[in-house]
Amino acid sequence: MTRFVPHPRLLDSPRHRDWPPYPAPPVQDRPRLPPPDADVVIVGAGPAGLAVAAALWHVGVRDVVIIDRDGEPAARFLGRIDRLDQRVLRSPYEHHPGVEGYRDCELRDFARMHWSRLTPVERREIRMSQAGHRSVVPVDVFDAYCQHTSVLHQVPQRLWRGEVHSLDSDADRVLVRGSSHQNEFGIAARHVVLCLGEERRDAPATWWTGGRPNGVSYWDEPVREDEADREVIVGAGLTAAHLIHNALDRGAGVEWVLRQESERYQCSDVNASFFRAEGRARFDSQQRTTSWDDRLALMARERRATVMFEFRPLLSAAEEDGRLTVHRGAEVHAVNDKGVELDGGRLVSGDRVLLALGTLPSNGSGLLPDEVVGARDGWPDLDERTLAFRQAPRVFAAGAATCMVLGPAARNIDGHRVATARIAGTIAAEVGRHA
Ligand SMILES: Cc1cc2nc3c(=O)[nH]c(=O)nc-3n(C[C@H](O)[C@H](O)[C@H](O)COP(=O)(O)OP(=O)(O)OC[C@H]3O[C@@H](n4cnc5c(N)ncnc54)[C@H](O)[C@@H]3O)c2cc1C
Repeated sequence: MTRFVPHPRLLDSPRHRDWPPYPAPPVQDRPRLPPPDADVVIVGAGPAGLAVAAALWHVGVRDVVIIDRDGEPAARFLGRIDRLDQRVLRSPYEHHPGVEGYRDCELRDFARMHWSRLTPVERREIRMSQAGHRSVVPVDVFDAYCQHTSVLHQVPQRLWRGEVHSLDSDADRVLVRGSSHQNEFGIAARHVVLCLGEERRDAPATWWTGGRPNGVSYWDEPVREDEADREVIVGAGLTAAHLIHNALDRGAGVEWVLRQESERYQCSDVNASFFRAEGRARFDSQQRTTSWDDRLALMARERRATVMFEFRPLLSAAEEDGRLTVHRGAEVHAVNDKGVELDGGRLVSGDRVLLALGTLPSNGSGLLPDEVVGARDGWPDLDERTLAFRQAPRVFAAGAATCMVLGPAARNIDGHRVATARIAGTIAAEVGRHA
């Protein structure tokens, strides 16, 4: 049996190479605010929003407005990744942002077109992918591919920077209210697709009283690189692993606090079967074996934090030579200016504490009334066939919010394609009926 041994140097893949510009038509001068009506409003231009926009383009729905806080495709995703100095995606080449059933230039084809720009290690990954083995995608390639997909499906012409504040849905229309460049706007949309992604999970309220202690930051906040000789990092997932990697890289020591009895190394975010139809079937509520409680239990198990295999040699070596101390099975009791206090009173101290506690899906609450979101255990009440909110059939969800319908891979790039196919098909049929 051949055993694939991943190359730790993948973690050094270069960023911000000079990719050739795409022959995009210039975005014409246009009003600063989005138009007052549209067939579809997509909220969020991350990988999920991009996939939905591309799918709608393919099925001929062109009267589309996209609103995103950053006003650029995949900006929050890439911003988070760059904050961690993450150089490769966890997902393989087969997981590309796009549309199920339509042959665009796929991520691997795109990378091959830019062969001369890639390093030998990156080229080897493409060969691995072609041979059907696990492969790893450079963030730089993914970034350039998102720009390519965006231009190809005319996203720049349809994208406005802004924040959506509320959705008011009736039988015929959804009124989307928001602000852009400090001006309020309203769009009467026939359909809305929420592609809101996930928010950072904050520390439990019991960890500190009053304000957050000095020297404590979350993984997605900027920190000064040079001010810590010893860092305390709390969390068991890939984000924590990147923070550890970066600290070790610049010569700092690390105390790693893990609630679990041991760290777990795994290729992908969730078990690979959840990217396939048979895994998704385990979330099909029509089957008697998959009650809500069964699905909740599966989600709890599958959302467990894991680290990519590539990190194992680095972390093991650092632990052996004492640059990294791992506190396994350590439950945090409190966090203060001195460090992290564990249950039992032991104090783990350092010059600063970084918290990497995961993310929580945005389920539409805050935009839609609570009774419309219908959240159960935090998950929105969606029609399983169309991914529309049952209480607001003109409003759809894609991305992490759909995990209880499509399984845990719904939050990942490949899961967006599955969600997108259902949503675009439903919208195209409805728009076609009224054309
Ligand atoms: C560091 C990190 C690395 C990851 N690596 C991988 C990986 O390698 N492979 C993989 O498959 N998955 C990975 N994931 C999971 C990843 O989050 C998803 O694959 C993907 O980015 C989610 O895309 P999205 O479009 O759902 O969300 P996002 O990329 O978060 O996009 C949502 C967008 O909606 C905007 N938005 C939200 N609310 C509003 C509003 N009210 N008004 C206007 N705009 C709004 C947000 O600002 C954001 O721009 C990673 C996640 C993180 C945090």
